[in-house]
Amino acid sequence: MVYDRNNIFARILRGELPCKKVYEDEFALAFHDINPLAPVHVLVVPKGEYISNVDFSADAPDAQVVGFWRAVGKVAKQLGLEAEGYRIVANHGPQGGQLVFHFHVHIFGGRQMSHRMGNMPRPNDRQ
Ligand code: AMP
Repeated sequence: MVYDRNNIFARILRGELPCKKVYEDEFALAFHDINPLAPVHVLVVPKGEYISNVDFSADAPDAQVVGFWRAVGKVAKQLGLEAEGYRIVANHGPQGGQLVFHFHVHIFGGRQMSHRMGNMPRPNDRQ
């Protein structure tokens, strides 16, 4: 798979599409998910052309990997989620349910998360 420079998150990173920004530094941009699945649902995307954790973890320079994951931690802290807790998720590929092919981490918070993370999708779940 080739990275598509016109994917939605690439366009948000270039400022061509709006987002509800919560954090930005040289390594990452974080913004609210447009279709929140929890009271707090924020996406953190690295600055760079990475499709998923597959190429990000294999190919990104060490400083980018470290900077990105530090940003994820900072965002969760900034959102006030550390005390009560939060969940981070990154989907890869069709069976992972990935919809946008620019690597991103979901931060979910503000409610109790289910322990049934790997359960089968229900009929009315989005595809
Ligand atoms: P994934 O299945 O991990 O690829 O999830 C992609 C996420 O991006 C979904 O939760 C969408 O709701 C979210 N999303 C799609 N378009 C936008 C957008 N323009 N701004 C913010 N979030 C978006």
